[in-house]
Order: sequence, then structure tokens, then C-alpha cells
Amino acid sequence: GKRIVWFRRDLRLNDQTALSRAVQDSGEGDELLFIFHIHPKLIEEFTVRHDYFFQTVDALVKDCEAYKAPIHFLYGKEEEAFSQLINNAGEISGVYFNYDEVGFGKQRDDHMIEWFHEQGIPVYSSIDHHIHSAREVTKKDGGFYKVFSPYFKQWQQLDKPELQTVDLEKVKRYGVDEREHYKKGGNKWESLKKQFDYKGNDIGEKAALERLHVFLDGAIYDYEEHRDFPAVDGTSLMSRFLKTGAISPRTIYHKIREETDGRKGQKGIDTYIQEIAWRDFYNMIYHFYPEAHNLEMVEKYQGIDWNVDEEYLERWKKGETGFPLIDAAMRQLNETGWMHNRLRMAVASFLTKDLLMDWRLGEKYFQERLVDYDAASNIGGWQWAASTGTDPVPYFRVFNPTRQSERFDPHGRFIKEWVPELENVEKKYIHAPGTMPEDIQQKAGCLIGKDYPEPIVDHKTMRNKAIDRFKQVKDYN
Ligand code: FAD
Repeated sequence: GKRIVWFRRDLRLNDQTALSRAVQDSGEGDELLFIFHIHPKLIEEFTVRHDYFFQTVDALVKDCEAYKAPIHFLYGKEEEAFSQLINNAGEISGVYFNYDEVGFGKQRDDHMIEWFHEQGIPVYSSIDHHIHSAREVTKKDGGFYKVFSPYFKQWQQLDKPELQTVDLEKVKRYGVDEREHYKKGGNKWESLKKQFDYKGNDIGEKAALERLHVFLDGAIYDYEEHRDFPAVDGTSLMSRFLKTGAISPRTIYHKIREETDGRKGQKGIDTYIQEIAWRDFYNMIYHFYPEAHNLEMVEKYQGIDWNVDEEYLERWKKGETGFPLIDAAMRQLNETGWMHNRLRMAVASFLTKDLLMDWRLGEKYFQERLVDYDAASNIGGWQWAASTGTDPVPYFRVFNPTRQSERFDPHGRFIKEWVPELENVEKKYIHAPGTMPEDIQQKAGCLIGKDYPEPIVDHKTMRNKAIDRFKQVKDYN
């Protein structure tokens, strides 16, 4: 019969658990049918994130065609779309997919597993998206970790999963092309493709492997020293590929083990692997605490009275706050769909502490703009910065945006790349251009208040206010 492989956020042909299983289970007389389901909710809006994601789907479409096993598109609400599949496909021996442990994906999967069973169709759902899944790293008493360091200790001790190799020759042999039956989805796909606009050579499985190779060839050894400096190309840029599943975290892990040499910089390798574990940690947290999407994880902070100010929010989004590093970061996000980790921490701290605004607004804006948007990591990161999450930055340790700038972009190189108004401002003033005397402003061709804004808030004042607000909640709840 037919084995259905349902692709979602695992858009690759290598080291892909569901695909690997479906191919392994196939023998003479079997057929492999590859599906991508376009949910109407997924395309209600079309931001850079969707653009990037669907271009990765397109890369997979091409890779699959090379193996004569094309992707078939379904469109509509799940049950409706899959009823069409069942009606067209004939005898189905199984549906294979990689299970989502969090968020919308989890709800969909839990529902569809039941639905397929009702239709009498066997479901093979696999755990694939992380090195260690949400329920694998738990405390001795069965509870889940809320703090990263003990979690990581346990994470390190566990055996790491093997690669899930896919026999691509078998894909070629058993793949079927029945696209004429799935016109509705096919049409939807063609119309989506017309909206493509994201340009970059960072899309799909080949690009992911190439980038990983470049990173493992050099930058990983200096990762510990370089990863906090946004002007340096010091991080792996793997997040976008992990988000779409163009690469598997197992592949990253095994390639590090095989291709790096600890003598060139073990610390860099160790720190990098720890970051990959943070991704697992936040997936685990979101799995056990699905309310985190909307609710502060520390209960007493659920009552914090956040400021509401549309104008400040807009200024933050556009990168017009008068704090150069914050502005450069937001413009990097707006123009490229990615932001450096150090800057994500800085702008999230700025929104929640210097503007005292609701972290959910920031989480939502990142969701719209990030090509690597991952609900678990994004919610985790925002609640960390807002001091409302598990293992967060303590509320009394408020980042100073000017100090962050001096430390992590000492020469203002990153700032000048993204905030051209400040191009001729000398190093002495680049982190606080509002303090430039008037004659120097003239000389730099940058009049404060006209060419570049005054700082919209006073950091010291806001820092004290933020601390007070957290303290109040602490005292009265
Ligand atoms: P590298 O430094 O090369 O790290 C390697 C990989 O480790 C990353 O690709 C990522 O998968 C993982 N990783 C690193 N840091 C973290 C972290 N703090 N939490 C979880 N995983 C991590 N990451 C996302 O993938 N999607 C998001 O939506 C997201 N939102 C964030 C929001 C905030 C407020 C903060 C502070 C962080 C957020 N992060 C998010 C984590 C981190 O900023 C990015 O993963 C990282 O910048 C991606 O660039 P890179 O691949 O070059 O990272």
C-alpha cells in the first residue's frame, strides 16, 4: 500500500526520522507519497517568516523531484484536507510524521493521531526535532527541571541519538507522482509562490550543510570569545535552518564530534553544544508549561502593571529610540529577519525594563519578523529578559543599553553598519550621541533631535521604576 510522509518543520531528506522509517518499512509493491499540508491559518498573513519558510519548502520540492518523489500539496482544514487524501490515495499502509511537542503543532498532532485512528489508518509518529525530547531529561522524582544548569548536567550524561539515515535510492524506487489528484493544494502552492520576495542564499538543506561546514572549519573554536560581538560573524547562523528543519540537530551534533579538533579550541565547542542544549531546554519548558505563551511563568509577576504607549512601541520597532545599539539591532531585524543573540537580550530588556512594556508585545513582534521564529525559544528568551520566566535574569540586574553598547560594540562598527546617520560620529560619542556638544554634532553631520533622536527615556530613572514595580508585586502578592 501507500506510505504517506507528512513533512512539516523537517524540510530535508537526510537524517529525518519519519522519512527514514517510512522508507525502511517500504518493500516491493509499496509506494511513497510525500505530503505538505498548507493550513489556511498558516497563510492568513504573509510576513518575511512565511516567505523564508515557504522558500525552504520550495527547495525541498526541488530536491524531492530530483528523486522522482514529488511533494503533493494539500490545502484546507486538516480533516477536510486529509479526507481528500484518503479518498484519492487508495490503500494506505501508514502515515508517517515527526511529532510536535509544543504549541499549535502539538494540538494538531494529538488531534490528527486520533482522527487517523478513527479512519483505521496506522500512524507512525516519531520524535525528531531535538537532541533530547521534552520528556527525556527529567529529575529523579520524575518532575521537570526549571533551572538550566542541573538540566544541562543531566543532558550531557545521556547517550546521544544516532543519525536517522534515509535510503535515497529507495525513495527513487518507491516514490509516486499523483499530483493531478491534488489540484486544490497545488493551486494554492502556485499562488503562494508568487509572493516570494526574500532574497538570500541561505535557504534549504544544501545551504544549511554548507554553512555548518564553514562554521566548523573555523569560527566554532573562537565561539566562546566572539559570540557576544554582533559586528563579528562569530555564531553559526543555524537557527533559521533548525527552524525549518533544513538541518537536524543530530547532524549538527555528530558533525561537531567528527569534524572538529578540540586542540584548536575545546571551550568554543563546549559552549556551542551548550547553546544547542538551551534549545532543548526551552522546548521542554514549553512542553510542560504551555500557558507560557501568554502567562508569566513566575506566578507573582502575572499582575505586573506594564506601561502602554503606542508611540514608544513604534519607536522601538523601527529602531528610533536614540540608543544606538538598540536601534541598530531593530533595524538589523527589520531588514534581514534575524538578530544577534546579544542584541535580542538587549532589545528585550530595553522594551521590558527601560520602557516597562509588556513582553508579549515584543514576543509578537519577533514572531512577525524572525525567519528563525521558534515559539519555545522566543517565549523562553522574552520571559528570561522580562525576569518573569524560569531561570530568568534577576529583575534588579537591569541591562544598561549604553554600557552594553560600549562592551559589545566597542568601536561602534555594528552601529554604523545599521544606523547610517551615525556614520561620522566619533568613537567617543558613538554609544551616547545625545551627549555630543553642538559643534561636534555639526562636524559629524548629525544633529540630535533632527537627524538622530534624543534618547526617548532616561535609563537610570526607568531602571529604578522597573525595580520598584517588581518589588511592589513581590511585597503585596
Ligand atoms: P548560535 O549562537 O550559533 O547558537 C547555535 C544554536 O543554538 C542556535 O541556532 C539555536 O538553535 C540554539 N540557541 C542559541 N541560543 C539559544 C537560546 N538562548 N535559546 C534557545 N536556543 C538557543 N532562537 C530561535 O531559534 N528562535 C527564536 O524565535 C528566538 N527568539 C529569541 C528571543 C529572545 C528575546 C532571546 C534573548 C533569544 C531568542 N532566541 C531565539 C535564541 C538565540 O538568540 C538565537 O537562537 C540565536 O541568536 C540564533 O543565531 P545562531 O544560530 O547564529 O546562534
